[in-house]
Amino acid sequence: MSGQTLLDRYEAVVGPPVIRHLRQLGDHLAGLRVVHVNSTRSGGGVAEILNRFVPLMRALGIDTVWEVLTGTEAFFDATKTIHNALQGSSKGLATEMMRAFEATNEANAERLRPLLEEADFVFIHDPQPAPLLAFCPNRRGKWIWRCHIDVSRPNRKVWRYLRRWVAPYDADIFSLADFAQPLPHLQYLIPPSIDPLSEKNTDLSDDEVRWTLERHGIDPSRPLVVQVSRFDRFKDPLGVIEAYRLCRRHQDLQLVLAGGGASDDPEGAVVLEEVLAAAAGDADIHVLVLPDDAHRTINALQRGATAVMQKSTKEGFGLTVSEGLWKHKPVIGGDTGGIRLQVMDRFNGYRVRTPQGAALRLRHLLQHPNQARRMGENAHHHVRENFLITRQLRSVLALMAALRA
Ligand code: UDP
Repeated sequence: MSGQTLLDRYEAVVGPPVIRHLRQLGDHLAGLRVVHVNSTRSGGGVAEILNRFVPLMRALGIDTVWEVLTGTEAFFDATKTIHNALQGSSKGLATEMMRAFEATNEANAERLRPLLEEADFVFIHDPQPAPLLAFCPNRRGKWIWRCHIDVSRPNRKVWRYLRRWVAPYDADIFSLADFAQPLPHLQYLIPPSIDPLSEKNTDLSDDEVRWTLERHGIDPSRPLVVQVSRFDRFKDPLGVIEAYRLCRRHQDLQLVLAGGGASDDPEGAVVLEEVLAAAAGDADIHVLVLPDDAHRTINALQRGATAVMQKSTKEGFGLTVSEGLWKHKPVIGGDTGGIRLQVMDRFNGYRVRTPQGAALRLRHLLQHPNQARRMGENAHHHVRENFLITRQLRSVLALMAALRA
């Protein structure tokens, strides 16, 4: 699809002034070379965003490419440890993990150096590729560290280690103010976003939603709560099962826990085993392990839900929250991180801290369908105003224009 046609399609959703503004910024930046680097092509929120963001930047005339780190098992074990530690886990980073982390970055820098050193802008997503900058001594462009995770209360030792790698960047971007750590460069706050035109979020017919539920053994005529997440402890899938069970004592209900693996997440299989064990013997709990490209299936599951759940105990942003809200669903979300930006208590869902709290709110929504419907309308509106990709793109382009000047 030509850039023109792609942008026209967004115009139909967000209106002409928004697209006009994007085009103006694009004209200013046209021809610049931009590289995004992260550590997985699929699975997780960063891949989800880049998949949609990169074509849009290209449509605006900016020469944008997306590169993915290749790494060993030891590297991904190290980066998962870093990720967990930045979100508060006390487990530190052993010396051999640091070595694997640095060696993989050095090897990737060998492969990517010409591209990275020549680029006008390099966006490095999350901690995994952070050391690349140190291995590109002749860089000519601006480098931005884009942190998607909740580093509000990091394991101090691990943060000090990572800080060494990110301090030399020209700027950083955090999703919200609470996460921003003091760093000696420009700092920007830009929350992530969802794409209303992606397979994950586009409108679906009622028939497709019903058919998808039935195909997975779910009864479309009965109440359903859905959580879509990687199998990760911070997403608290066991807490979701507990909330479902508490609610189920009073109320007919089905539960879907849908997730897949991210290639940079080595812990997923263990957590999935725990979830399957906790769900065993209950035919109304559907643990769905989906392929990476199951976007339409996830879309239909979210649309078929009576309420969407995202009971994380730590969450950088939680794209799945905006995905649920966009589909007119009240969302019951953990009272943490980026979920606080998206879920306004009693306006478009509820923020909860415990399985008991989640069960209480869920039961309330199931028993008050009119209120749930009103919240669902607020939910859609809140995302339209704040969390669509066009808004994120505008912020990133404005940042580039400012840094370039
Ligand atoms: N997702 C997916 N398949 C899965 C699990 C998640 O496509 O099996 C998507 C989900 O719809 C969302 C993203 O991956 O778009 C997860 O982003 P989020 O910010 O919620 O969490 P993260 O995984 O980045 O911690």
